[in-house]
Order: sequence, then structure tokens, then C-alpha cells
Amino acid sequence: MSKRLENRVVIVTGGARGIGRATCVRLVEEGANVVVADRAGAEETARSLGAGAMALALDVTDVDNVKAGVEAVLARWGKIDGLVNNAGITRDASLLKTSDEAWDAVIAVNLTGTFNMTRAVASHMVARKTGAIVNASSIVGLHGNFGQSNYVATKAGVIGLTKVWARELGRKGVRVNCIAPGFIQTEMTAAMPPDILSSMKDRTPIGRLGQPEDVAAAYAFLLSDDASFINGQVLGVDGGLVIGT
Ligand code: NDP
Repeated sequence: MSKRLENRVVIVTGGARGIGRATCVRLVEEGANVVVADRAGAEETARSLGAGAMALALDVTDVDNVKAGVEAVLARWGKIDGLVNNAGITRDASLLKTSDEAWDAVIAVNLTGTFNMTRAVASHMVARKTGAIVNASSIVGLHGNFGQSNYVATKAGVIGLTKVWARELGRKGVRVNCIAPGFIQTEMTAAMPPDILSSMKDRTPIGRLGQPEDVAAAYAFLLSDDASFINGQVLGVDGGLVIGT
């Protein structure tokens, strides 16, 4: 494994499990010091990654918690080179069945959480004139999906935020991109009906569902200097699922 991220300090929200955990593993393999930031389980994941990882108990919806978390990272590692805004939740229901609580909960984590984290690290990155931020959108943020008004609103919103921040921060040395995964095998998609997942697999030219490691590799690339002229982009990681749609 190349060491493209040697000595970089990268925060991964929702890093304790799923895609976030696979991303932490990949970033450590590439030489980064990783901050596993999650509501629960960060300690266990960080411990499994060894000395290159730090656990941070963090709720991205809580502004004070986010500020304190960023301070804790700076106290420990002295800098922040990268942020992966991976934390995300679903509360699926068709429009007429979407409760106020389900709407607010998904907006709070996926959209406001991404804003809270980015605002908290951006001032530090701008002061150092360097940094890379990658947000988690989804193919559904580009194409919509039945039963996901709240989730799709956040994933489309994240694409918009990515483009705004790429314009605002790019000139200050900070790149901002996002990824749009297809259907990746994690606990999030395990909650989906098996026939939907099977049909997604059948419609994917690569012929399989994605693995967390597929997404982790995309994050590592966009964080690295290999992507130094890539800014404000949406990188599909979907096995070709949406070609032609
Ligand atoms: P998982 O549900 O497996 O993991 C999500 C992680 O985010 C969990 O560790 C969860 O912690 C954490 N999290 C949730 N809320 C918060 C919060 N308020 N503060 C901090 N951490 C929080 O999801 P995936 O790995 O499948 O997905 C990761 C990201 O990728 C999400 O943004 C998702 O929308 C996106 N994505 C996933 C796809 C897929 O097919 N899996 C496809 C497209 C996009 P806890 O255990 O406490 O809930």
C-alpha cells in the first residue's frame, strides 16, 4: 500500500463502523493519523487501528461537542489535514408517512452535521492554507429514491454544499469534494428489502453490490495529493449503476 497520506491528520465522522470504519483502516494503511469520531464505538475501532488512531466521542449535531472535538484533535496532533463527513442516518418513509421527527433527525445528522464539522475545521485549514474535505452524498442525491424524502434532501444538499465550499475555500488552499456511492453492503443497506438490493445488483454493470472498502479507496484518493487539482466534484462509486439514467 502506498503511503500517500503519511503524517496527515484526518477526521472521519461516523468512523466506528460501516464505510467510516473501512475508511479509517484504509487511511491508516496509507500512513495517516486518523481520528475515529463517532457517537459510540470510537474507542474500540481506534484501538484496533493502533497508535495511528485517536478515538473521539462526538455527535456531529451538537455544535459545542464538535468545537470541543476539534480542539481535542488539535491538542493531540497539532493540525488537521483532512475531514471525511461520513456520519449519516436514514429514517425511510414515503412522503405521506414521513414524521416531523424523522425529517428533523435526518436533516440534523446528514446536513447540519456536515455543516457543523466543516465550519469547525475550515478556519484551521484556511489558516494553514491547506486541507481536503470529502462529503458523503449518494446516488440517490443525484437521482432521487422512493421513500427517502428526508435522506435525498440531505444528499442533494451535500452536493450543493460541496460546490459552495469548493468555490469559497479552494482559493484558500482547501479542496472540497464529495462521493456518491451506489448500494454498499453495510448495516444501513442491510435494513433494506432484499429484493431491492438484489435488483440493484442486477442493474449494476460491475455485477455486485459495493463494499465499504470500495468507498474507502475513493476517500483516500480525494484526500491525497493525487487529487490536488480536483475540487467541487461528485465522484460516483456505484459500479456503473446509474450509467444512462
Ligand atoms: P452505517 O449506518 O453503517 O454507519 C454510520 C455511522 O455514522 C455509524 O457509526 C453511526 O453511529 C454514525 N453516526 C450516526 N449519527 C451520528 C452522529 N450524530 N454523530 C456522529 N456519528 C454518527 O452507515 P454506512 O457506513 O452505510 O454509511 C456511511 C455514509 O455513507 C452515510 O453518510 C451514508 O448516507 C453514506 N452512503 C451509504 C451508502 C450505502 O449503501 N451504505 C450509499 C450512499 C451513501 P451510531 O452507531 O451511533 O449510529
